Amino acid sequence: MIEISAYVVLLIIASVAGYRVRSLSLSGAIFTFITGCLVGLGFGWRGLFILGVFFASSSFWSKYKKHKKSKLDEILQKGDQRDWVQVVANGSIASIAAVLFFVTKADVWMIAFVVAVAAANSDTWASEIGVLSKRKPFYILTGKKVEKGTSGAVSLLGTAASFMGAFFIAIVAYEVFSMDSLFYLILITFCGFFGSVVDTILGATVQVRYSCKTCGLLTEKTEHCGKETHLSKGIKWCNNDVVNITSIIIATIIAVFIVGVL
Ligand SMILES: [Zn+2]
Repeated sequence: MIEISAYVVLLIIASVAGYRVRSLSLSGAIFTFITGCLVGLGFGWRGLFILGVFFASSSFWSKYKKHKKSKLDEILQKGDQRDWVQVVANGSIASIAAVLFFVTKADVWMIAFVVAVAAANSDTWASEIGVLSKRKPFYILTGKKVEKGTSGAVSLLGTAASFMGAFFIAIVAYEVFSMDSLFYLILITFCGFFGSVVDTILGATVQVRYSCKTCGLLTEKTEHCGKETHLSKGIKWCNNDVVNITSIIIATIIAVFIVGVL
């Protein structure tokens, strides 16, 4: 009981802190608290620690060299303050895995949880670090150079960051959960990284993009230059959050399938 209250207090402090440093909006802070409760229920301090590593490192990278990312605010739908939709997109699969682990105590859900976090971390590191690449990225489908921050764009730096983002969570989880097989370390790293690759491919194909009739900018925003933007490509409801959660689901299902088969 004391342990549970300590977790809850810790989660409140973390959510409020995230709100105060403007990493989270109010709704984002509330949903971070809920995510934390579910993860804590399933995995105790170990799960919360891994979640904490994800939040801390993601926030760090989004604030890192922020002045060089100002142009991106024009293209991206949302700023670096996460709202509840983004928290759900990044955290709901991990939460579901935590609840399934709580109910079944089957290790496969522990791996699923870690892969879900690794995929989210991989994607965040890729976009936050990738945009700092000195060279323009190229579009994954055509190989043509495009503006930084464009969904579906890849760079060497971003790809390396993506891999490291997944590997980082894998190593932390490997230690924290005292895993006994290096196979899991490799599985988590590759599934997490693969999630980020799926994210990029979906970003290039089905993710919605708008164009501003006034200045010609291609953007994820529904409004620019004070006017409504027009659908340029992709599917209307398929925004960055939908792409995020879809890629996390795919990465997690593949991991669950592999663990289940072996
Ligand atoms: Zn405009």
